[in-house]
Amino acid sequence: AGELSGLVAAVTGGASGIGLATAQLLASRGAQVVVLDLNPQDAPAPLVGIACNVGDRASVTDAIREIESRFGALDIVVNNAGISAIGTVEDNDDDEWARVLNVNVVGMARVSAAALPLLRASSHAAIVNVCSIAALNGMPQRALYGATKGGVLALTFAMATDHVREGVRVNCVSPGTVATPFVDRMLQNFADPVAERKALDERQAIGRMVSPEEVAHAIAYLASPAAASTTGTALDVDGGVTHL
Ligand code: NAD
Repeated sequence: AGELSGLVAAVTGGASGIGLATAQLLASRGAQVVVLDLNPQDAPAPLVGIACNVGDRASVTDAIREIESRFGALDIVVNNAGISAIGTVEDNDDDEWARVLNVNVVGMARVSAAALPLLRASSHAAIVNVCSIAALNGMPQRALYGATKGGVLALTFAMATDHVREGVRVNCVSPGTVATPFVDRMLQNFADPVAERKALDERQAIGRMVSPEEVAHAIAYLASPAAASTTGTALDVDGGVTHL
């Protein structure tokens, strides 16, 4: 039996990219993994996909209720679902701010709130939020996106404080540029996506983008009983960008 056998994990946005790599890693370590995603059908077995829009409270409540009725418990929540936003403060209007904040920040608070009653009943409860280097590094055209990830960082520390005495740990990971469909879509905005991808790899301090699996390993560590004394931390998986 794996390190996580007997535990139930939910991964939001687990049908693609970092979330999918994380869901598969947690499953390989023995957890029963539920993917909460707009596209639950994209989650391959043994992952169980449940339709969920983290931007909608009723959808989140229904999804957590379904986890409770099917599995009777929830021990690990990975708040990974997030969307991109490009532009300066002059480019994004109020509707765009509301839309992206609602998914990237409020979505994590919403899923956590719905999950907390089940997490408190677990003896290995952990929440891991997916932040970004954009929270701490000024990046071009990332005013809105960076603001949402700054929100994720603050949310992580506040939640860790609020729930530490209830036995619920809360940490986050801050990935650098990760080779996922999220980045593939961004590259399509360039005239020559292949050349831009090569340039992007070369701009990274380690000479290449971070892999989704590398981020998944960091998330799996923070989610596991091995990290029982770690709460309220942010772990960079960024090839050194933030501190070099
Ligand atoms: P991705 O686009 O490959 O996957 C995102 C998944 O989230 C998709 O399956 C999508 O269906 C799902 N999703 C989107 N909106 C949702 C919603 N409202 N409710 C439920 N599910 C929803 O993205 P990724 O690159 O794997 O990014 C995952 C997380 O990592 C995001 O929070 C992103 O901000 C963060 N991140 C990504 C990078 C990167 O370079 N790729 C870097 C730092 C942080």
